[in-house]
Amino acid sequence: MKAFQVNAPLDYRLAEVEAPRAAPGEALVRVAFAGICGSDMHIIHGDNAFVRFPRITGHEFAGVVEAVGEGVEDIAVGDRVCIDPVISCGHCYPCRIGRPNVCTALEVIGVHRDGGFEERVAVPAANLHHLPEHLGLDAAALVEPYTIAANVLDRMQPHPGDRLLVFGAGVIGLTILQMARAKGIEEVIVTDVIDERLAVAQELGARHVLNGRDRDVEQAVLELTEGEGVPLIADAACVPALLPQMLRLASPAGRIGLLGFSPAPSDLVQLEVIKKELTLVGSRLNNRKFPEVLELMAAGRLDPLALVSHRLPFDEMPDGIEILDHHPEQARKVLIQIGA
Ligand code: MN
Ligand code: ZN
Repeated sequence: MKAFQVNAPLDYRLAEVEAPRAAPGEALVRVAFAGICGSDMHIIHGDNAFVRFPRITGHEFAGVVEAVGEGVEDIAVGDRVCIDPVISCGHCYPCRIGRPNVCTALEVIGVHRDGGFEERVAVPAANLHHLPEHLGLDAAALVEPYTIAANVLDRMQPHPGDRLLVFGAGVIGLTILQMARAKGIEEVIVTDVIDERLAVAQELGARHVLNGRDRDVEQAVLELTEGEGVPLIADAACVPALLPQMLRLASPAGRIGLLGFSPAPSDLVQLEVIKKELTLVGSRLNNRKFPEVLELMAAGRLDPLALVSHRLPFDEMPDGIEILDHHPEQARKVLIQIGA
């Protein structure tokens, strides 16, 4: 069967590999669609210390169950499913307090073990979620990016009427915008440096969009908020140097949700944090957010297909990678049709 294999940094190809089998407790999924994520791009470039090569990446995918291993009960052949990539141990400290997404033995499908860019993938049956009847397999492949949004918003503890400022209008910024709107956050401000992205954010319901290249974002946000600052700030730009500005833009009692994975330090200004009693939270992957996202998608409260800029057959996946590498301003989610 066909698989997209990364053999070493920048050495990737569609390869012929042996089909996996479902071990006890696993299901074999025939993959229909899989989305290319920024983190797949980091793996392809050799910027993910957790990955051992060769690796079949892909953690945003949906498909149909083709076989189940011994002991699997709630999943049957023919079920339409999407897959939570988080595999946790259940025993360590974070697992015991209900935070399995930062399990000390964390394994992520498509990172620590093979993922969805292959015709068939074996995954723990416990990680599968049944799809609502009318949800397409293409939309279902995009549940995972929305779980990132659901997780960071949960970590930020919104109150009714809170304003939200989102740094970055890439795919994750757009899922945060949509998820916030679905949760009743009316006023979302989005900032980025690419006009094309901001135009999409506006279409998807951002109240204000600010291009940091031609505007003083700090001054504009303070004007929009009558000098108060913003209670909720989500960092989907993931540029460490922006943290001081986020601290200045937060209102007193504000919460800042961080999603970046850079090893570069950020300047943390004590005065801003303490005088306003700010809360800075990290958010990694998702903590059991698949059911919530599936429910919102089934109810039509999210618009996953609006994220998709390119839809390519599996054979053309390397072209999708080229686009993301060289024309990021033209691309949002590149969705690969693998077997549908
Ligand atoms: Mn992703
Ligand atoms: Zn654990």
